[in-house]
Amino acid sequence: MVLPLTFYGNPVLRKKGVPIGDITPSIRKLIADMIETMEASRGVGLAAQQVGEALQLTVLDVRGVKDRPSTLSVNGKEADLEEHMPMVLINPEIQPTGDKVVASEGCLSFPEIFGEIERRSEVDVTATNAKGKRWTFRCGGLLARAVQHEFDHLQGILFIDRMEREVKAEMKPELDELQEKTKAELKKAK
Ligand code: ZN
Repeated sequence: MVLPLTFYGNPVLRKKGVPIGDITPSIRKLIADMIETMEASRGVGLAAQQVGEALQLTVLDVRGVKDRPSTLSVNGKEADLEEHMPMVLINPEIQPTGDKVVASEGCLSFPEIFGEIERRSEVDVTATNAKGKRWTFRCGGLLARAVQHEFDHLQGILFIDRMEREVKAEMKPELDELQEKTKAELKKAK
């Protein structure tokens, strides 16, 4: 089932995700729905907050992006990226490493808003997968950027928080408009 997305201005996007205990049938259903929603929205990542759930859960899939490569290694050995997509990260812990790189980033909760964001080129990740198994991997390229973006969501941090002040100031009218629109829609839905 494709779930409705939450947009900037919705307070759930500022909530820190609660850690997930057992992978219950309802969590399994949420994971499947989040993957479906990410695919339908053509996103490379989706955090639980973006479908209204403040949980430590995110899904990723970088297969659709051909011009921005990704790398993945497990136990120091290169792993098959395709085999691990879509990727489900439950209760992730991350350690960004490598160089600082600036690149354009967008977010499904900010339609048509893009900005240059500085991230680390690689990231070490430990997370529980959809089967409940804890594992560790290192990723680079687009996947590393996406993991850092999604991890931020799970803490209630948004990509606009990481934009340079002048860039964010330039976008203020668009951001304010989106926030107002979201708030008006939430009020109407009540
Ligand atoms: Zn996002």
